[in-house]
Amino acid sequence: MKPFGYVRPASTDEAVRLCAEGAGARFLGGGTNLVDLMKLGVETPRVLIDVAGLPLDRVTRTADGGLSIGATVRNSDLAAHPDVTESYPVLSQALLAGASGQLRNAATTGGNLLQRTRCRYFQDVSKPCNKRLPGSGCPAREGTHRDLAILGHSPECVATNPSDMAVALAALDATVVLLGPEGERAVPLTEFHRLPGENPDQDTVIRPGELITEVVLPPPTPGAASRYRKARDRASFAFALVSVAATLRVEAGHVEHATLAFGGVAHRPWRARRAETEMRGAPATPAVFQHALIAELAEARPLRDNAFKVDLARRLALDLLGELTERQPARSG
Ligand SMILES: Cc1cc2nc3c(=O)[nH]c(=O)nc-3n(C[C@H](O)[C@H](O)[C@H](O)COP(=O)(O)OP(=O)(O)OC[C@H]3O[C@@H](n4cnc5c(N)ncnc54)[C@H](O)[C@@H]3O)c2cc1C
Ligand code: SF4
Repeated sequence: MKPFGYVRPASTDEAVRLCAEGAGARFLGGGTNLVDLMKLGVETPRVLIDVAGLPLDRVTRTADGGLSIGATVRNSDLAAHPDVTESYPVLSQALLAGASGQLRNAATTGGNLLQRTRCRYFQDVSKPCNKRLPGSGCPAREGTHRDLAILGHSPECVATNPSDMAVALAALDATVVLLGPEGERAVPLTEFHRLPGENPDQDTVIRPGELITEVVLPPPTPGAASRYRKARDRASFAFALVSVAATLRVEAGHVEHATLAFGGVAHRPWRARRAETEMRGAPATPAVFQHALIAELAEARPLRDNAFKVDLARRLALDLLGELTERQPARSG
């Protein structure tokens, strides 16, 4: 590992100011991704600004009945928080499906959103990679890509976003709040992560020096049930081959409200807007769900070894929507 500086700011303003002082400064959350990448030589920051001690470790109700999640709240604390388990179970389930207990105890909300792709070429500095070194090439396209993207990828990059938490946040219409040298701004979670296009080195729309301060959830949709499901290669801890987060409310046999997001299939959590539009107002039947999912996944462009993900995504979501439909009477009764 290359030598680096380390500072602990006393406030968010100081953190942002320190970051603006020169190139190569990076915020440090739990360090479970950044430090790993430093050991591999993928990341070589000049100085780490440790934000884990800032007073951003609270989960609080917002005035409108939503939830504010501070950027340094640990993943395990968030998963177990009563407001999350009661009102946003899909978020708790997604967090618990990610990493191991030990990692979740260290990982933070902000760091989880900004963790880098697990594409093996990105993590290996002896290999070319457009995300690590723009213009060097994408060996994954012809090489090992079984766990990579089927939707929204580009000739430049076929990487996937690895976060489970972000998939649930996409289905919940969360907003990311950022503080930077220019002040504060809020970005919908579904627009926070980018598709790769010609600039796969940019994972998100975050601007240089911006600090994530909180993630805000709108009030839970009355009467809607929510759930997360993840398919992975082993039962202990592994990144998603495909995952799905959904919220659903059925009234008189018809879909009154539905949100759906996929993980493990694209460079960002994939909000299934087309399927949602098809489902809304339609009878809550497997045939309707099936039709909506086929329409959504029609734009999938699988690579040589990952076509299985299209079918996996459809089946996983179909099963989940069926389960959420069955839960409706018990919940509203
Ligand atoms: C073995 C293993 C298995 C894993 N399995 C999974 C899994 O199945 N699912 C899953 O979702 N994740 C998984 N993870 C990833 C883990 O969830 C992430 O490493 C973790 O969430 C990152 O959080 P952190 O706080 O440690 O981030 P850090 O490593 O501290 O930071 C990550 C990035 O975020 C930036 N950053 C941190 N905080 C802020 C902030 N407030 N504002 C702006 N920038 C910030 C850092 O500069 C860095 O670029 C796994 C990790 C390991 C090592
Ligand atoms: S898929 Fe993206 S991250 Fe992986 S090698 Fe290609 S450019 Fe790099």
